[in-house]
Amino acid sequence: MDLFEYQGKQYFARFGIPISKGGVADTVDQAVAQADESGYPVVVKAQVKVGGRGKAGGVKLAENAEEVRTHAGNILGLDIKGHVVKRLWVEHASDIEREYYASFTLDRGAKKHLGMLSAEGGVEIEEVAVTNPDAIALLQVDPVDGLSLEAARAWVDRANLDEPARAQAAELLVKLYTCYTEGDCDLAEINPLILTPDGRVHALDAKVTLDDNAAFRHPEWEEFAGTEVEDERETRAKERGLNYIGLQGSVGIIANGAGLAMSTLDVVNQCGGAAANFLDIGGGANADVMAAALEVINADPAVRSILVNIFGGITRVDEVAKGVLEALDRVEISSPIVLRLDGTNAAAGREILADHLSDRLVAEPTMLDAARRAVALAGGQS
Ligand code: GDP
Ligand code: MN
Repeated sequence: MDLFEYQGKQYFARFGIPISKGGVADTVDQAVAQADESGYPVVVKAQVKVGGRGKAGGVKLAENAEEVRTHAGNILGLDIKGHVVKRLWVEHASDIEREYYASFTLDRGAKKHLGMLSAEGGVEIEEVAVTNPDAIALLQVDPVDGLSLEAARAWVDRANLDEPARAQAAELLVKLYTCYTEGDCDLAEINPLILTPDGRVHALDAKVTLDDNAAFRHPEWEEFAGTEVEDERETRAKERGLNYIGLQGSVGIIANGAGLAMSTLDVVNQCGGAAANFLDIGGGANADVMAAALEVINADPAVRSILVNIFGGITRVDEVAKGVLEALDRVEISSPIVLRLDGTNAAAGREILADHLSDRLVAEPTMLDAARRAVALAGGQS
């Protein structure tokens, strides 16, 4: 789960990482009240879960209440890369001497945590990685050892942060590491991490992604759930207990087993189409699960055809066939369905379906045939 900047900052604060004094505002009046509270000058910041807000006009400095009014009015409702601004963060503005970059994420290949630190912050780090990769000091941290203050100091030296920033930056990085590990983040990023002219180091921005798998030990994350911008399709699927991931194509996919579902996406791609989703209905799919799966896919307006790819193992294909028919009785489906049913009791399953086949319910003998047919029905290249 991605956090908004204000949530990320509040999360940082729990681990002792210094942030600016500020608060959220959903209206222009609230923004002015919050600015009065934070102390002028302030920065008025769009809260959207997308980077590059500054460049898009979503971060503005204000010297007084009147300027806050103007900027808050302009930023609320602003569309930043498809995200409409509904909330602002208003904080006391900092003077900036230098802007750095710091983050922790997981290096899966190395089975270690990966710290990235750069004296070239503020700008997009992807850009630095391309134009000046040496300016990013990488640090692999063994999760068993953790990050010591000594190691953080050496890292800060290696990244060439300005002398007055080094001691505080090292301390802050240890806190950021603790936030990342104990706070169960997939990503904890500060860009920019700043040095002020009076020699203080603190976080001006926060990008935090929480590891959803750790939610069970963080009841306090509940507060973030309500503000999460979810794919509507995924919300619907989650309500029905389905293993679903929304994608951008037009061929709806239902398969049993994550592996088969993945292969089905590949074959659809290979046939020149694109999947609208990943959906694994698991083992022993019955009519209820099939109906729920068809409902969720049917509610996706981008779907033009539905490919049901079942390989019966423990799951019996005749049961699946009955499930499909029962589901079709319950749910009115607007796209044609292509079935590929194979494995245990496949013949019995096909027999059950034989009388029901039409140009809206098509059976194909192989996965490749079925994918071709589904892609063609979806209008070819999608
Ligand atoms: P992003 O563009 O979405 O990454 O938003 P940031 O929070 O990183 O803000 C973008 C830029 O606005 C920063 O890199 C700073 O240069 C500037 N900025 C943000 N807060 C302040 C502040 O308190 N004072 C000053 N002078 N500039 C700020
Ligand atoms: Mn930033």
